[in-house]
Amino acid sequence: MRTVYLNGAYVAEGDATVSIFDRGLLFADAVYEVFSVLDGRIIDHAAHMARLERSLAEMKIAHEVAGAGWDDVLATLIARNALVEGTVYLQVSRGAADRDFLFPAPGTPPTVFAFTQARKLADNPMAERGMRIITRPDRRWGRRDIKTVQLLYASMMKMEAKAAGVDDVWLAEGDVITEGTSQNACIITREGHLVTRDNGQALLPGVTRLSVLDIARESGMTVEERSFTIVEAQGAAEAFVTSASLFVMPVVEIDGLAVGDGLPGVETMALRKAYIERARGAH
Ligand code: PLP
Repeated sequence: MRTVYLNGAYVAEGDATVSIFDRGLLFADAVYEVFSVLDGRIIDHAAHMARLERSLAEMKIAHEVAGAGWDDVLATLIARNALVEGTVYLQVSRGAADRDFLFPAPGTPPTVFAFTQARKLADNPMAERGMRIITRPDRRWGRRDIKTVQLLYASMMKMEAKAAGVDDVWLAEGDVITEGTSQNACIITREGHLVTRDNGQALLPGVTRLSVLDIARESGMTVEERSFTIVEAQGAAEAFVTSASLFVMPVVEIDGLAVGDGLPGVETMALRKAYIERARGAH
């Protein structure tokens, strides 16, 4: 049984309970982060923390963490659960209060919890075959730059992908792709340029995206942060997604059409390798 963190205490997972009045439950009034762990260490730690602070600030959720802070919570969970490879999930809600659309009185303590999930990340068989994706209209709310737990539409789309026999969905406004259900969408043009949508309120500023763009630039690749269409993606040389748990994952088919030669792209796989090497070496 896992040890999880809840409001300042480390408890057995079965003993961790939150109030039915928690605003995370009633209003999806909560933000979260997912940190990946490789060789027992967190990848892109500082950037995930910065995004968590930003999400909290945008939502105006006041927060304080008991003890030595977030870093200590994560390190303790990794140690107590002997996590070598997997993820740590951390959620902060505005806390529990009688149900009211208005925010509760200042001083209402936020609900903070975190837990580990052991899982293979680096050695993912999907990287060998590549993802097949379909596109669907992006019907999420307009502040997708905040990492809230309001994930129902993404969840519905993942179910739709499963029913269609593919791996995931890329969401689009008109014919312009915003991002994947839980990843950022990237393509490599026939000129070898890496194209991914520019950050803004339409999409989550991915932490992995940031690191991968850095690696690409360092390797001399031209990076274009701009919108691209479904048709441009289908006609690209390569396509891939980035996320904390998938790292860099090749996309080989979009709406039934093969991308490039229908195999994981060479540049994509080089970026995946470089990302994993950097994660392993950067400590
Ligand atoms: N976009 C969405 C909607 C996500 O939910 C996620 C991650 O969960 C990402 C992009 C990728 O972000 P990151 O690389 O920080 O995991």
